[in-house]
Amino acid sequence: MKVLKFGGTSVGSILGIQNIKKIVEAEKSPVIVVVSALKAVTDKLIEATRLASAGKTEYKDVVRDIVAAHHNLIDAVVDDGARQAELKQRLQGLFDEMADLLHGVCLIRDVTPRTSDAILSYGERCSSLCVEAMVKGAVRYDSRDFIKTERREEKVMVDYTLTNRLVKERFDSLQSVAVIPGFIASDATSGITTTLGRGGSDYTAAIVAAALDAEALEIWTDVDGFMTADPRIVPNAYPIDTLSYNEAMELCNFGAKVVYPPTIYPVRRKNIPIYVRNTFHPEFAGSLITSDAPAGRQSVRGLSAIRETSLVNVSGMSMVGVIGVNRRIFSTLAAHGLSVFMVAQTSSETSTTICLTPRDAETACRVLDQEFAKEIATGAMNPMQRIDGLSTIAIVGEQMKNTQGIAGKLFSVLGRNGISVLSVAQGASETNISAIIQKEHLRKASNVIHDSFFLSEYQVVNLFLCGVGGVGSSLLAQLQEQRQELMETRRLKLNLVGLANSKRALFNADGLPMDQAYEMLKTASACNKSDLLRTIVDMNLYNSVFVDCTASDEIASTYQTLLEHNISVVTANKIAASAPFDTYATLKSTALSHGVKFLYETNVGAGLPIIKTIDDLRASGDRIIEIQAVLSGTLNFIFNNLSAEKPLSTVIRLAKEAKISEPDPRIDLCGKDVLRKLVILVREAGERINQEDVRIEPFIPEKYFEGSTADFMESVKELDVEFEQRRLRMEQERRKLRFVARWAEGKATVSLVEVDENHPFYKLEDSNNVVVLTTERYRRYPMIIQGYGAGAEVTAAGVFADIMRVANI
Ligand code: ADP
Ligand code: ASP
Ligand code: MG
Repeated sequence: MKVLKFGGTSVGSILGIQNIKKIVEAEKSPVIVVVSALKAVTDKLIEATRLASAGKTEYKDVVRDIVAAHHNLIDAVVDDGARQAELKQRLQGLFDEMADLLHGVCLIRDVTPRTSDAILSYGERCSSLCVEAMVKGAVRYDSRDFIKTERREEKVMVDYTLTNRLVKERFDSLQSVAVIPGFIASDATSGITTTLGRGGSDYTAAIVAAALDAEALEIWTDVDGFMTADPRIVPNAYPIDTLSYNEAMELCNFGAKVVYPPTIYPVRRKNIPIYVRNTFHPEFAGSLITSDAPAGRQSVRGLSAIRETSLVNVSGMSMVGVIGVNRRIFSTLAAHGLSVFMVAQTSSETSTTICLTPRDAETACRVLDQEFAKEIATGAMNPMQRIDGLSTIAIVGEQMKNTQGIAGKLFSVLGRNGISVLSVAQGASETNISAIIQKEHLRKASNVIHDSFFLSEYQVVNLFLCGVGGVGSSLLAQLQEQRQELMETRRLKLNLVGLANSKRALFNADGLPMDQAYEMLKTASACNKSDLLRTIVDMNLYNSVFVDCTASDEIASTYQTLLEHNISVVTANKIAASAPFDTYATLKSTALSHGVKFLYETNVGAGLPIIKTIDDLRASGDRIIEIQAVLSGTLNFIFNNLSAEKPLSTVIRLAKEAKISEPDPRIDLCGKDVLRKLVILVREAGERINQEDVRIEPFIPEKYFEGSTADFMESVKELDVEFEQRRLRMEQERRKLRFVARWAEGKATVSLVEVDENHPFYKLEDSNNVVVLTTERYRRYPMIIQGYGAGAEVTAAGVFADIMRVANI
């Protein structure tokens, strides 16, 4: 014999009932079908009781809703008019009784647990009548006749001896389909109606299955099985094929609502397998809960959470080494019927932390303050300290004890995502590790933990891209092109979750289509800097990277907040790294302390690996002695192209026309940009340097920097003769002009230098960059990094490389 339980999620809809019919009618041998109330009906009955006990007649509207829900179902599923009417009439008898009880509650404005149980029982009593009428050959029995309870310490407990006997007597020789209401029972002595607690239909089914030594208990619900996490919180959750009873129990006790916790115990004693299956997807096998969970399984099986948690901290010096403080804590709590679901005590014994529901925590503080009043008065103990607004999250798996590094992984995942843990507990059985976190982090925490333990298939990196000019749009194209390859070869999934330009922004936590995002941005909503920052922080996504492809100082000013919220920053924008030293240093230390990255490789030499190389050299114990570099592709282009035919002013014009220079070439010619790059490199080498510390030797006199670009393009012709004379002389001497940034012996300079044939910069072609690093290890033959050092494509590639470095944390 099998026991099949159908939850409210199944009974409540037309499709659900039709599937129940199919599933039950396909069974060959006799089965017992346990049903819940129609979806949400128990909630509605609770609401009606609440309204009535407050004297509000609005409870009648709720009753009307309940009646309508049953009628709608009957109209849709029962096709024969006469049978519809007959069923409605039978139900009407129950609805009338229910309305009478509510009326009574409304009159006296009071409700006892006994009355409340009586009212709640109508949910299952009505639904079981419906199912009986809808399933061929079904006969309904009233659970109150054989599920018997007794009241112990204010709690309703099942009287197993009596119940087992009555269930056997009733069903041992069952020949057909029996339909019984879940959730409801009756008191063994008085016979009055009782209930088994919210979600209690699962328990009814388990009690009956155990009493009859059923071959299986099947819990039919609206999801594909027992999932790795609550699918409403973790969209990536998937059904677990097998779990042990222990694992299921740990997960249910910790909020996996799919099975009511007391359900496991009776069937486990009889070693009856539990299947969790989907009424709406009956061809799927679902999950099996059994004693012998197969070997070689993933060690963490599931994750669950208790959303509402409060913590009470019992602390004080008098607790150290004193026998009996814990006894007093727990007996006081027990005496007041308060149940604790997590306890943590450190080895110093100066505090014991207990976790309860917020309601129980309030009472716990009060009764413990009374219990320890004397100790508190003398200062030996502190008044109870309560923290609300928390959640508990737990990972569960019997094999965790045989696997190293699980706790480490759990806490590093939380830490890296900016989620701090207030308290932790793990029993010596190592089946469950629980952590208390702030409630606002529950969703994020569940998802990061889930993805890191269950979806090791892909690591997800969430990208916010700001700026879609040359570099930004090239980057978008490169990301799109490389995405599939990275998924296949590196198991890395790049998710573009935000895109912004100076005016608009668009966001989607599930990912924007990279090939369409650029177009979509054109019609996206307006968004200023503070909205942008707030949205990104509020989205609170894990493994996030903010990518700045702008040159905006407003955007650079958001980095500090972003890093503080555990969002890595990758930037092509030079403003932050060359800002006053303290600003720069704070950004770096914030990134370090939050376990995220602040990367700006493209600030110097575009895609050339210069900053990373200096970092690697220093990290491996080398010391930078001298830096010499040509860091302006524009200036190098200009000096390489000077000739008798093309004087200075002509080459400047050519650079401008070819977009090699800035629209106003003076920005390149003044050397400020090179100066900023040198500052960044010297800081990377470990020096505390600011822009003012660099000596700059301008080669264009000050007066040319006044007036418009057009004025300058005219006036600069005055310098042509002087430069041509210099060029002729240098040609004879086999020398070339280079705009060199140099740092040596604590001095940083940027100046125009004439280099001879033997100098490594002599042959630097076109608009290339070069950096020569003299270090302790590379002293005789310095390290040279050289190559194309400007342009959107290579800069985007450098930004991409930085994103990959973040992903590889
Ligand atoms: P029923 O009415 O069938 O008893 P419940 O609402 O009591 O249904 O339980 C099923 C719901 O439990 C699912 O719809 C799902 O949202 C939720 N749930 C929470 N945690 C889990 C989990 N680990 N696995 C499956 N479902 C879960
Ligand atoms: N109808 C009851 C409830 O909603 C019992 C159940 O559905 O299991 O709590
Ligand atoms: Mg349920």
